[in-house]
Parts: sequence; structure tokens; C-alpha cells
Amino acid sequence: MARYTGPKCKLCRREGEKLFLKGTRCLTAKCAIAKRAYPPGERRFRRRGKVSDYGEQLREKQKAKRSYGVLERQFRRYFHIAERQEGNTGENLVRLLERRLDNVVYLGGFAPSRAAARQLVTHGHVALNDHKADIPSLLVRPGDIVKVRAGRRRRELVEGYRQMTVERGVPPWLAVNPEEQSIQVLALPKPEEFSVPLRSNLIVELLSK
Ligand code: SF4
Repeated sequence: MARYTGPKCKLCRREGEKLFLKGTRCLTAKCAIAKRAYPPGERRFRRRGKVSDYGEQLREKQKAKRSYGVLERQFRRYFHIAERQEGNTGENLVRLLERRLDNVVYLGGFAPSRAAARQLVTHGHVALNDHKADIPSLLVRPGDIVKVRAGRRRRELVEGYRQMTVERGVPPWLAVNPEEQSIQVLALPKPEEFSVPLRSNLIVELLSK
């Protein structure tokens, strides 16, 4: 379960937009994109002029990986699954990323960022259909119930997170029960409900080469 452990704000600066990797800090004036809206690294190495087609495709793939906290090998695995599914491969790919357990915990407002949601899951604070689930990459299905496990301290922790994220709203394919600290998966997400705006066709073009 490898994960990226380097500086997160650099990733946003590289993509030139907010990827919301640091929770509530991303909504404050401390956001690095607000202060230094240029790519990291030495000025003399910065590219100028038109970005090539390959460059655009690569940036879109990197943005997807970084937003959902997935490394290259796992991302390619999702792509191969998406290719074998019926329908639009790009949409299938993003739908798989949306269905990850850590993403659902984040979207339900039980964590301020996907990284924090991943930690909640790996530390065993979450149950899927009443069974402890500590694998962030588990994929949820319609009808599944994701719940914070019993324990006063962990429920207080999640309630604190929920208060911080309540303004963010919950996508229509999920239903949150704040009292029970549970999230029900109502359906698979539609493309217009995806939480990260991505041009998935560019990713498909890149990975199909
Ligand atoms: Fe990205 Fe958040 Fe850092 Fe801003 S504060 S650069 S949105 S991770």
C-alpha cells in the first residue's frame, strides 16, 4: 500500500490548480497556489510556449493520480479494468477511482482530505457492511454501508472532521447519516457527479498508446 509522502502543495503547483490535498488549509490564504501560482523548481528550467499533446495528456493523468492519491502501477491497473468494462473507458476509469473506500469516506465528509480518509481506513476506524475494512482501495457497490466503527474517541474524531467539512456537501450517489456516522452508497456515480473535473479522454489516449 505504497503512497506518495512528499510535499503535497508542490503537486498542486505543478498542475497549476488546487487539488485539495490538505483539507481545510486548502480553503485559506495559506494555500500555496494562492501565494505561488507557478510551477516548482528553478525559474530557468520552466517551460514556456505551447504544451504538446503528449504534455497535456500526461498532465491530466498526473492530476488524476495525485487527486485520488494513487500511484502509477495501481492507476494502470484501474485503466486495464476500465478497458474491459462496457461503455466509455475514461468514465469507467474515473468511476473506479470514485468508488475507492478512502474516496467515499472523504466525500461523505468524514475526513478533511483523501489522505486523512486513507489514514482513517488504514488505522481500522471504518467498517464496510459491518466488517472492519482497512484497505483504502476497496471498491464500494450500490447498497454498501460504510460506517465508523464503535468507540468514543474515534467517533469524536470523525464528528470533528464532519463539522469541518459540512459545507462541502455530499454527492447525490451517497447518503450520509450523521447520527450513525454512516454513508450509504445509493448508486454508481454518473460522470457529472465525479468529484474531480478530469478530461479522461486525454488519459485514455495516453495509456492506449
Ligand atoms: Fe494544494 Fe491544498 Fe496545498 Fe493549496 S493548500 S496548494 S490546494 S494542497
